[in-house]
Amino acid sequence: MTPDANPFLSPSPLPYLLPPFQEIEEEHYAPAFEQGMAEHLAEIEEITGNPEPPTFENTIEALERSGDLLDRVSTVFFNQVSSDATPGVQEIQKDVTPRLAAHADAVHLDAKLFARIQAVEAADDEQRWLLDRYLTDFTRAGAVLGQEDQQRLKRINERLSTLATTFQQNLLADTNARAVIVDDVSELDGLSADAVQGLRETAKERGLDGRYLVTLVLPTSQPSLTELTDRALRQRIHEASTGRGAANAELITEIAALRQERATLLGYRNHAEYVLADQTAKTAQAVTDMLDRLVPPAVSNARKEQSDLEEIAGHAVQPWDWQFYAEKVRKARYDIDSARMRPYFELNTVLEKGVFHAATRLYGITFTERTDLHGYHPDVRVFEVFNEDGTPLGLFLGDFHSRASKRGGAWMNSLVKQSSLLGTGPVVVNNLNIVKGEPTLMTFDEVNTMFHEFGHALHALFSDVRFPRFSGTAVPRDFVEYPSQVNEMWATDPEILANYAKHYETGEPMPQELVDRMLEAQKFNQGFATVEYLAATLLDWAWHTDYADGDAERFEAEALKRAGVDLAAVPPRYRSTYFAHIWASGYSAGYYSYIWSEVLDADTVEWFKENGGLRRENGDTFRRELLSKGGSVDALTAFRNFRGRDPEITPLLTRRGLL
Ligand SMILES: [Zn+2]
Repeated sequence: MTPDANPFLSPSPLPYLLPPFQEIEEEHYAPAFEQGMAEHLAEIEEITGNPEPPTFENTIEALERSGDLLDRVSTVFFNQVSSDATPGVQEIQKDVTPRLAAHADAVHLDAKLFARIQAVEAADDEQRWLLDRYLTDFTRAGAVLGQEDQQRLKRINERLSTLATTFQQNLLADTNARAVIVDDVSELDGLSADAVQGLRETAKERGLDGRYLVTLVLPTSQPSLTELTDRALRQRIHEASTGRGAANAELITEIAALRQERATLLGYRNHAEYVLADQTAKTAQAVTDMLDRLVPPAVSNARKEQSDLEEIAGHAVQPWDWQFYAEKVRKARYDIDSARMRPYFELNTVLEKGVFHAATRLYGITFTERTDLHGYHPDVRVFEVFNEDGTPLGLFLGDFHSRASKRGGAWMNSLVKQSSLLGTGPVVVNNLNIVKGEPTLMTFDEVNTMFHEFGHALHALFSDVRFPRFSGTAVPRDFVEYPSQVNEMWATDPEILANYAKHYETGEPMPQELVDRMLEAQKFNQGFATVEYLAATLLDWAWHTDYADGDAERFEAEALKRAGVDLAAVPPRYRSTYFAHIWASGYSAGYYSYIWSEVLDADTVEWFKENGGLRRENGDTFRRELLSKGGSVDALTAFRNFRGRDPEITPLLTRRGLL
């Protein structure tokens, strides 16, 4: 192969530098990584070897421009790892992740480079903020440690990257392997004919012709438990879910111990203290205080819900019963059920008449599908996004369907980062895991997730910063969920809902009385939702503040008990062995972020309501003060500039029924 044949080696010729997915083959990755790391190190040597005295331009700005090839290949590769992890890609991942960790250390622990950064003087606030970020990043990566500690740190980081990859690959394989096979169709009583047909087709795709396959979604709670009347099957599905990742049990204890060791090396009491030092919450104590405040009322709400369910069930409610009886109470109390809702949530209509329409009403942006441009999988759709005045803004890719090679959950990725220094515009992709149908009908939860992920997409699309380090969602972990959560509010906005919630066959809008009952029913089961989330948060917290040694399962049980969230009927949203957020996705000691961001979110929803809701002026203000800033200003300062004051927690407590 000639070097020219590798599409990573030159900038993409496509609009917005969209990666040329059709040209990319698996064999292009390894040589591009190889050359990308080498080029990056050569660029850094050029910076450190520069005989001129260090300046902002010849050091910080030069670093911002460096690593172009490595960036291109990493972005496309890790996008594929998440969305279409073929065996070939998984092999490369095993090999490349520890080498990338070593590469990052080679940069961060380069003494000459660090000395040069320390000698730079900033000319204005923006430069000072970026310089400060570099000093913080390097210090947190160990730049000020002695040589021996740095050697140990490098070994820890390499090992951690390998363990994270193994965790992820074990989980994907086990999630597929534990899908529940059903032979007798009568066991599937409660599911709609379409849903049963879907399970039959899924089984066929996996070589189980004539049988039925219930695949697992990432959280503990499985959607089919809402409808299945066969209690034994519900239990089987629940146990398949909670048994996932058994092969990860030892591996996570090693990760937790290594993170503790690394935190100690870097001068922190534990991994949580280390993580929090660079978050808006600032200290582990601030998070502990907030969790302490939320747990007792949430647990008491869940216990009350449980006794309501037990009254209907006539027996003690097990975790595999909760959703089933909750659905019965929901039906009885609100006369509403998910099966009746789905026909109003057809995927394309929700996307174009809901998600896109809300963005048009708020920000004036419009969307044109570009069928001439291609994603990395036939399911991916590509849209060009325009500002109100017709100027091009960026590309939005949507990859909405589940597949065996895709990890669970939903997320946003930046494929190209906006930066005026580099002259680049944003290219973003949203991933969901919606089972494909003809047509694809969604639950309201899935609709909400689509709005959520699009909120992350807007954060990246509206980014208007100079330096790539600050682009879009490059904000603290406990701030990044805030814009996406705010975007969820438009899913239930009366004007937006009326625009997208239309029956897929008749085009009839969802009847108002059904809308009203759906909105009313949203408040139901909040105790369960809050406790399962808090239990996962407290597990994450325990692993990164308390873990010393010993068995994972026992540690988990004791941690939940100590935190007061060991409700037998409400298991954590993720158990430790399949908690991918904290072991493989950058949310370690960070799962609290969702509720922490929700304080800002609920307070911002109040602001929109105070100011007339869905109005262009409101969208413009939110875009200008918040979404466009990325990480270029202090996160809480951006919030204050937008809101005119510090965040208040009352709107969140009211929303979750915790006052
Ligand atoms: Zn999110």
